[in-house]
Amino acid sequence: MQSFVYNALPGRVIFGTGTISTLKAEIERAGCKRALLLSTPEQAPALKDIAASIGPLAAGIFSQAAMHTPTDVTERALQAAKDCGADCTVAFGGGSSTGLGKAIALRTDLPQIAIPTTYAGSEMTPIIGETEGGKKITQRTLKVLPEIVIYDVDFTLTLPPRLTVTSGTNAIAHAVEALYAQDRNPVISMMAEQAIAAMGRALPAIVTNPQDREARAEALYGAWLCGVCLGSVGMALHHKLCHVVGGSFNLPHADTHTVILPYAMAYNAKAAPEADQAVARALGGRNGTQALVDLAKKLDSPNSLKSIGMAESDIDRAADLAVQNPYWNPRPIERGPIRDLIANAWAGNIKN
Ligand code: NAD
Repeated sequence: MQSFVYNALPGRVIFGTGTISTLKAEIERAGCKRALLLSTPEQAPALKDIAASIGPLAAGIFSQAAMHTPTDVTERALQAAKDCGADCTVAFGGGSSTGLGKAIALRTDLPQIAIPTTYAGSEMTPIIGETEGGKKITQRTLKVLPEIVIYDVDFTLTLPPRLTVTSGTNAIAHAVEALYAQDRNPVISMMAEQAIAAMGRALPAIVTNPQDREARAEALYGAWLCGVCLGSVGMALHHKLCHVVGGSFNLPHADTHTVILPYAMAYNAKAAPEADQAVARALGGRNGTQALVDLAKKLDSPNSLKSIGMAESDIDRAADLAVQNPYWNPRPIERGPIRDLIANAWAGNIKN
């Protein structure tokens, strides 16, 4: 066995159905008395119900969280935290709400409770990406890792099927990249394979019946493990491409991950045969790329960058950006093959 380093991330997780009932006790257990509750505007009604359920522990509500954690939103949320004398935050929602809780923690050290309602996995990572003046800056610091995460399957029942598919594939991408990360280790690789398998079973069942609680529970469990993978080891080509292509051309976050994933797997398959085999084992298929393509077909996932809003004329610029400051990757990052990858992903033309 190869030598490795394993860094366990601290954190308390409550997982199940109806676990929102533990929120009051969890806030008190953390020694806090005045929580600022956070969500996107769309999830404000559900957040109000949560606030009502914890009574005076809900000191304030801020429902303006937005994608990619814009710093102007963070400034307003910090003011709201100050105004209500918050001693902790409760972030309810997907990566946008979690990101806002992290941005507040980065500046104030307020303890965070996250209640995730998508499969993005941000609640399990010490990573924060913030946007200012159209530029996204990402950093890793334990300051932003939520102290407590309450996974309640009930909240995921409303996640629309298309968002379920793209958010779930976003999660799978975290686990796939963990399998070939430079700092991979057997503990995280074991988790990654389990996570991909759980997602691979759950997502088709949810598309058939979005109210399938067993499948929803398995997807949320898989998403948790995928988030741990993302938080524990490094990212490679797939995440770099998604940041560049999604960020520079303003494409939807989870859709971009969904389209790019099989192409990133195909690019790396020969250089990372163990990862390729692990993905194939988890999903069933002759190799990792084929397994991911088959799953995407089963889920009717978005399958081209063209279909999610990227212009063909942007392919060259995307290739230029993708090869600048590349992340470590098992196969060298070369402009020619990377341009081919992006052009094929734009057209929806997977070669395997
Ligand atoms: P999101 O949080 O923006 O949610 C997408 C939409 O779905 C929102 O309108 C939201 O209100 C709605 N929604 C969420 N849960 C719902 C539910 N259960 N039912 C109905 N509607 C629901 O999207 P996301 O994909 O979860 O997160 C994307 C953001 O997270 C991006 O900014 C991305 O960069 C960030 N992210 C960060 C990390 C990290 O480790 N730092 C990891 C993954 C994603």
